[in-house]
Amino acid sequence: MVYEFGANEFNAAQQQAILRAMGWVEHFSCVRFRLRRPNEQNYVLITGRPTGCYARIGFHATGHIHTLNLARNEPGRGCLNNIVIIHELLHNLGFFHMQSAYERYNYVRINWANIRQGMAHNFYRWPRNSVNLLNLPYEYQSSMHYSTHAFSINGRPTIEATRSFPGTMGHMVYVTHWDWVRLRRHYNCPGAWNERDMQELKEEVERTLPLMLAVPPTTADKIEDGDDEQMIVDEAK
Ligand SMILES: [Zn+2]
Repeated sequence: MVYEFGANEFNAAQQQAILRAMGWVEHFSCVRFRLRRPNEQNYVLITGRPTGCYARIGFHATGHIHTLNLARNEPGRGCLNNIVIIHELLHNLGFFHMQSAYERYNYVRINWANIRQGMAHNFYRWPRNSVNLLNLPYEYQSSMHYSTHAFSINGRPTIEATRSFPGTMGHMVYVTHWDWVRLRRHYNCPGAWNERDMQELKEEVERTLPLMLAVPPTTADKIEDGDDEQMIVDEAK
């Protein structure tokens, strides 16, 4: 993924937090990041406007400047939390939220009446050919899954699981083994379909968990990010 930091957007420590998150993605996949060369037209421009955390979905060959905004917090907080940066990078790398998958109604219920005005597009389901489960399990704990009360207008849940599962929906504490598997398969990384490589990946995720948890998000850091508007198409609910 070709990227550039917007001029004067981030200080050295903030850039370091972003580069560190990129390092995690590189460690767990065959995806590589590199700085934009002066004449390149298609790249992700990383900005730090105070408008939240959001990213354009997908890296398009003719997409020109792609959005990645991480509101400037101290490293480790808000948008500059490791898990949040990785979440946004995964958007740039082509991933929608887990609950956007075509098959989602086998796993969750969407309470449209509890969703804040103007935010319903964040809960759309997409056609099978653009967002599906890649023949992998639906994962409530994915770093790409919203939490139960995302964009709630009334304190009641906007997403409810219709099956039982361990852990917390949309916990945003660590990137799961399945998150990395999805990324590896999406980019056809070497060994992405190999059982032994998958097992090694699982062990590596468990082994490095304390490092990823080194700066856990606080409740105040709860992130509600929207999909990039440019990619939104309507669907019949
Ligand atoms: Zn998101």
